[in-house]
Amino acid sequence: MATLNSLKINATHVEDQMISLTLTQEEAQPKAAVAPLFLAYHDRIRPLLHAVDELRHLKIMEEGIQLPTIVVVGDQSSGKSSVLGSLAGVNLPRGVDICTRVPLIMRLQHHPTSEPELHLEYHGQIVPTDETHVAKAISVATNEIAGNGKGISNTPLTLVVKKKGLPDLTMVDLPGITRVPVHGQPEDIYEQISNIIMEYISPKESIILNVLLATVDFSTCESIRLSQCVDKTGERTLAVVTKADKASEGLLEKVTSDEVNIGLGYVCVRNRIGVESYEEARREEARLFESHPFLSEIDKSIVGIPVLAQKLVQIQATSLEKCLPDIVKNINQKLSLNVSQLNKLPLHLSTTAEAIAAFMRILGSAKESLGKSS
Ligand code: GDP
Ligand code: MG
Repeated sequence: MATLNSLKINATHVEDQMISLTLTQEEAQPKAAVAPLFLAYHDRIRPLLHAVDELRHLKIMEEGIQLPTIVVVGDQSSGKSSVLGSLAGVNLPRGVDICTRVPLIMRLQHHPTSEPELHLEYHGQIVPTDETHVAKAISVATNEIAGNGKGISNTPLTLVVKKKGLPDLTMVDLPGITRVPVHGQPEDIYEQISNIIMEYISPKESIILNVLLATVDFSTCESIRLSQCVDKTGERTLAVVTKADKASEGLLEKVTSDEVNIGLGYVCVRNRIGVESYEEARREEARLFESHPFLSEIDKSIVGIPVLAQKLVQIQATSLEKCLPDIVKNINQKLSLNVSQLNKLPLHLSTTAEAIAAFMRILGSAKESLGKSS
């Protein structure tokens, strides 16, 4: 009951908060790659996002109540973890092999002090970590959840990153899609991964962040095929095109012709390469889109990690605004149903006689309902 009561949200409060969510023209303009990103706006959205994250933590989705979630999908090695790492400014395990083997819920939060704070949450424990050790800590936690091999699990791992200037965003990184099992992977790895992906992207409350390699034909991407199964018109799909530095001349044409129906648009990025710091990577990215003979022709409103961060914050706000009234309604309905069932139970059973009497009453009503059905 304590949990249920803590779920009760005051609908008026949520609506009050939402009125102030509409972006002003100035806030909606992409800003330069400077921290802190869009702080005034974040002060308004943070309480709502926090409420949704708390609900996620209470496993409300297992009760059939969907929450607005940004879900990152992409074929294996398309750069999903690199994109999330770029947004958070922290190292996530990256690599050619299957690295992400469990859903990783990433909660990014701005916090005012210059010292970043990071921790992992899984199996009911909180494990503090720091920027240097976070990739290792994620690998250790993944092994604990999904085993030491190459298998995957649907039990999520949460990473909380609080750092000055971070956008307030919560996103879920999912294992990448592989067609052919590599050595040590179960035969049905494709089915297992696509089932997890479908579970996360099917609810209409989910925003799909589809990570695509600049170097491939988008229409051949498995992640496009999956997202089109649940979002045909692409109205809740945003595409991030990675490895822009490896792209050939046709990238501008690919993102403007939009052959694969991406309703929320494209953002082309260049992630961190090798041992670069995140600051160096952002500078290199800016330089690339500024001076490269054909990449510089792509409109600046659709290039770079800072633009991606801002778009995601805006999309998340719109989605919260749309979904919260229904979430509040569903929680309150569920709560009153549970409370009425609870009230039907005998409250105090302190003696054997009371327990027997209560048992006889239950037996009586069971007999009665059996009688009715026969
Ligand atoms: P995931 O399997 O989708 O999570 O992909 P990863 O983020 O692990 O990336 C796969 C590989 O591509 C890694 O070696 C990354 O360093 C590299 N990578 C990711 N993004 C870029 C990019 O924008 N440019 C270049 N050159 N390499 C990238
Ligand atoms: Mg990954």
